[in-house]
Parts: sequence; C-alpha cells; structure tokens
Amino acid sequence: MRLVLLGGPGAGKGTQAKALAQHWHIVHISTGDLFRYHRDHGTELGVLANQYMAQGQLVPDEVTQKMVEDRIGQSDVAAQGGFVLDGFPRTVPQAQALSGMLASQHQQLDAVLYISVPEEILEERLVGRRVCPQCQANYHVTFHPPQVVDTCDVCGTALIQREDDRPHTVQTRFRVYQEQTSPLIAFYEKLGLLRTVDGSQPPEKVTRALAAAVGTVADD
Ligand code: AMP
Repeated sequence: MRLVLLGGPGAGKGTQAKALAQHWHIVHISTGDLFRYHRDHGTELGVLANQYMAQGQLVPDEVTQKMVEDRIGQSDVAAQGGFVLDGFPRTVPQAQALSGMLASQHQQLDAVLYISVPEEILEERLVGRRVCPQCQANYHVTFHPPQVVDTCDVCGTALIQREDDRPHTVQTRFRVYQEQTSPLIAFYEKLGLLRTVDGSQPPEKVTRALAAAVGTVADD
C-alpha cells in the first residue's frame, strides 16, 4: 500500500497518517517530522531546513526530494510493503519526482487521499495546537486539552507551540499551500488517484472515511 495524504496545514495529516500506518502496518513518513528531527539534532540538513520552516516557507525541492528518496529506500519500507506519505509531495515538481522514484522501482501510488477542511477551521486548529517536544503527541487548547495545563499526558514534558503555528507564520503557510500545494489536487485527479474526504469531522470518522476511500474499513 503506497499512499499520499494531501491537505492544508492543520488538516490532520499527521494524526491520520499515524492511524492509517497502524491499520495497514505500513511506514509513516512525515517530511515535517524528518526536518524537525534534523533541526533538533543540529545536522547540516536541519540547519538549512530551519531557515525555511521557521518562516512557514517550503524547503527547496531538491533537498526535500533527496531526503524522501533516502527514506523510501530504507529497508523497513520494503519489509512492511509500503508507506503513507504525510507532507510530501507539496509541489508539482515534488509529485513528478515521486512518480520517478517509484517508477524506477516498478512501483506506483495506490491512492492520494485529500483531507478537505475549510480554511477558518484550519486556522483555529493551528493557533490552538500544542505539541510535546519529547514524544510528539498533539493537543489543542480547546478541542483536545491535556489533563494538566501545558503538560503532556503521555510523558509529562512541558508542551510547546510550534514556532510555525504562530498567527503570522500560519498566514504564510496558507498562502504557500494555496500557491504551491493545492495544484496537486488537480494533478492527482487527472491521474485518477484522488479520493476526497471531509476532514472537518471528528478524527475517528475521518480515519474510517479514509480507510473506506481506499477500499477497506478501519477496525478501530
Ligand atoms: P509539516 O509538519 O508537514 O507542517 O511541515 C513543517 C515544515 O517543514 C513546512 O512548513 C516546511 O517548511 C517543511 N516541509 C515539510 N514538508 C515539506 C515538503 N514536502 N517540501 C518542502 N518543505 C517541507
């Protein structure tokens, strides 16, 4: 199973990718998580990527594509028979590069799942989002607050707001999404791969709708 999750910032791609990866026993590949890992470990790639991430801009295509190609080539992907990509591709050239990477291994995507959410809901979700810097668990100050204020339920670490979830940067991310990523909807529709799901529903319902969209129903 080789899947791509598409959707604006805050659409729930990370949450849904985790659920789908668990459901199909495939590998969850999040380019945002990979970049944050590199940033937090001070690697050369991380330092470079952070110059773009902190401002809500996209990391250059060649850098991102190389990172994804390396990740897709790792043995766990072959062993588990597939992946769900979360946050990649984000531009048409990235989508073309992905097709090329897969074709060179005689593979192709099974589906592109578009999680559709109105922009006003996305904005509310992003500015209220809090994350655990230790275990990456996600919370929301109103919709999914932790049991103890600003503290992770899972590991007790103090929660943070991602720098790119601050209101000004959120506006840049929306603009970048509209200009560079939303053309992928038509791109994948033309290829007959696009399945659209209403992402404004509760997360469990979205997971079921996504699983149904690729032909199986999630047994949660
Ligand atoms: P995310 O966690 O998916 O919202 O990604 C966080 C940030 O990482 C984005 O705002 C970009 O700066 C960078 N990033 C993640 N995925 C990509 C990608 N496919 N292409 C370029 N930049 C990316």
